[in-house]
Amino acid sequence: MDIMYDAIIVGAGPAGSIAAYVASKLGFKVLIIDRFRFPRFKPCGGGLTQKSILLLRSLGLDLNGVVRDECRRVVVINSAGSFILTDNDPIITVVSRDEFDNYLLSNALELGTDYIVDRVVNVRTNGDHVNVIGMDNTYIGRYVIAADGANSIIAKYLGNDIRRNAAMAFMTIAHGNYFDNICVIDMTRIKWGYSWIFPRSGGEYDIGIGSIHWDNYRTQLIRYVHDAGLREGEIRGHPIPIKPRERITSKRIVLVGDAGGFADPITGEGIFYAMYSGALAALALKHSSNPTEFANNYLRTIRPLIKNLSLAYYLSLGTYGIDHLVMGRLGLSAFSVASTRNLIKKVMKGGTWYHQMPISIIKFSILKGPRLMLEKNTARMIFRLLIEDKAPLFLRFFFKPFSSHFLSALWRFLRRLGSSLCNLSYSV
Ligand SMILES: Cc1cc2nc3c(=O)[nH]c(=O)nc-3n(C[C@H](O)[C@H](O)[C@H](O)COP(=O)(O)OP(=O)(O)OC[C@H]3O[C@@H](n4cnc5c(N)ncnc54)[C@H](O)[C@@H]3O)c2cc1C
Repeated sequence: MDIMYDAIIVGAGPAGSIAAYVASKLGFKVLIIDRFRFPRFKPCGGGLTQKSILLLRSLGLDLNGVVRDECRRVVVINSAGSFILTDNDPIITVVSRDEFDNYLLSNALELGTDYIVDRVVNVRTNGDHVNVIGMDNTYIGRYVIAADGANSIIAKYLGNDIRRNAAMAFMTIAHGNYFDNICVIDMTRIKWGYSWIFPRSGGEYDIGIGSIHWDNYRTQLIRYVHDAGLREGEIRGHPIPIKPRERITSKRIVLVGDAGGFADPITGEGIFYAMYSGALAALALKHSSNPTEFANNYLRTIRPLIKNLSLAYYLSLGTYGIDHLVMGRLGLSAFSVASTRNLIKKVMKGGTWYHQMPISIIKFSILKGPRLMLEKNTARMIFRLLIEDKAPLFLRFFFKPFSSHFLSALWRFLRRLGSSLCNLSYSV
């Protein structure tokens, strides 16, 4: 006889496994289905923020066995220079996704979750239950928690266009000798995104490149790996959603993690949001006696996150568009202000949501930006505008007596001096 599960969870990534872990802990009969037998490879940087560690600890999960490296220093490079975020606690804890995801799944299985390897191809709501149709079998549950990732077929079933609002990222596990215990985020390699180097100890580095602008970044990634003096491994690409889906729930079905579009469009962080939304979906089961209550309970608790990530989508345009492409070219960056760096750390810790950010950025732009520009950068800015022929015509005319060769040489010198000073003062 077919078993009727309280909840069927499709996908055993962080979203699915945490949903299964919490639901099983609450006493529900849970089935988790993944198309791969675990441990399986997942293209990812494997970077966990402090809020992920806090969430895991609050669920009673201790990561000691699966931590590969810890970065208490994170170097951020943008066109204004290099900046360093430091903390006593690790800002980024690096894991290998095959080990991390397997660890989360085993914890759910220990609490009694059933696990089946099958590829889900469809779902059908039928009166008081949902049929989850796999390649090998059909499974029956009262509710479905869809955690089937960025290419979610269940998100599509709910009517979402999963190709819209997605970034593209490529990564590889590289080998050689680079910095251990230091994570690098470099915004100068690609427009509308960044590249990263996360150490995994033992001469392994997770290196990747991702952008809101969808393209094939293999060649750029290989160049980046070689520039760091490392050897690339297999290169894998995968989308990252950058905006919550339009439809998150339907009768008896809710979307969590990447399937729901819950990743941070500024940082590409998705693991925390996956685990957090998975836990909320499982909690929504507890207080629901019918499908409407289940959907409403989930929506009510997930709403602040949706608001936060939707706002982050617009802030990402500010970060990559205004801060990096415009302010950075003038030698300025919000990263150069200690209060902004602290705010970024606070967001990574989960101490605040993004709605705090605009206030700080506005403060910086209105109060500190123009002053800094006047104090340090006026000459540099004028030269730059002139060399790049972007100055208004009257200014170019005014400076015409100087030969452009002279100006270019001077500008190159000042720039080299400027960036080496910047790198010296912030270097690790
Ligand atoms: C290159 C790259 C680097 C990244 N780096 C980071 C980082 O450093 N830190 C961070 O926080 N986030 C990072 N992210 C984002 C992060 O990987 C995701 O947000 C996170 O994995 C989402 O978790 P999830 O459980 O929702 O989905 P996933 O981890 O994608 O898990 C989905 C699961 O569903 C299964 N599945 C899919 N379809 C089916 C089906 N039809 N039937 C059955 N099973 C199915 C898959 O096999 C998979 O196991 C990165 C993403 C990419 C692409």
